Amino acid sequence: MQISDCIFCQIAQGKIPSETVYEDDGLIAFKDINPLAPVHLVVIPKIHLRSLNDVTPENEPLIGHLLGVIRRLAEELGVAESGYRVVTNTGTDGGQVVGHLHFHLLGGQALNARIG
Ligand code: 5GP
Ligand code: ZN
Repeated sequence: MQISDCIFCQIAQGKIPSETVYEDDGLIAFKDINPLAPVHLVVIPKIHLRSLNDVTPENEPLIGHLLGVIRRLAEELGVAESGYRVVTNTGTDGGQVVGHLHFHLLGGQALNARIG
């Protein structure tokens, strides 16, 4: 399922350009347009899921694969040893702005320990 007015669906379809660092049949990882750290990627499933709340048991292998890809990207980008953060903001109180499930990969500097 793709939603035509969803910005991340459009990135997944190549209709909006992004600095893609990894792509496969199920996922795409690209640089955040407003990076909050030296390494700041956004990793998304290509199918339109609104948030973690939309993940069903059927999608769980895809999300497991996504986390494995994030781990490998952290290694490739040289932040695995120094440390990094994976964040998925969910819903209004979670601070989610873009309504397509996405995971932030942040690293390359000491991150503020405060959550939120
Ligand atoms: P959220 O607050 O929903 O978890 O984060 C959405 C993220 O997507 C933000 O960090 C924002 O900078 C990023 N973003 C929004 N629109 C675009 C875009 O068109 N291209 C890219 N590369 N990142 C985007
Ligand atoms: Zn979407």
